[in-house]
Amino acid sequence: MQPESVMTNCIFCDIIAKTAPAEILYEDEQCVVIKTIQPLTPIHLLILPRIHYSSLNDFTDSDSELAGHMLLIAKLMASRMNISDSGYRVAINVGAGAGQTVFHLHLHVLGGRPMGAGLMTERLG
Ligand code: 5GP
Ligand code: ZN
Repeated sequence: MQPESVMTNCIFCDIIAKTAPAEILYEDEQCVVIKTIQPLTPIHLLILPRIHYSSLNDFTDSDSELAGHMLLIAKLMASRMNISDSGYRVAINVGAGAGQTVFHLHLHVLGGRPMGAGLMTERLG
């Protein structure tokens, strides 16, 4: 499926367009970084590509530069938030079965407390 530049009824597209409020920590021509409204860890940021992709499943080979850029922005934001050395997790939920609730691709950057060796930030029910 081709990505849309802007999707109606998408909260993250609205935040990127600044028609919905959010705490924006960083932005460039390719992505916007916001604080989540429901942090799982003391530092919990979301990296949003400006273009609407429903999930990582919509990425193709032509998106490799954007994919790499978002990863480097995760590293940059970790440095800015002073969690580079204490440790942080970068995660993407892909699909409802993996816990994705907002269907505009985003990377989570989680840190600010010990998270242990597992991948989960909360216990499975
Ligand atoms: P997902 O579960 O899709 O991987 O992550 C969705 C993330 O978006 C969660 O951290 C959730 O709290 C956050 N979120 C959902 N709606 C909003 C919103 O309106 N504003 C902000 N800043 N974060 C949101
Ligand atoms: Zn969107």
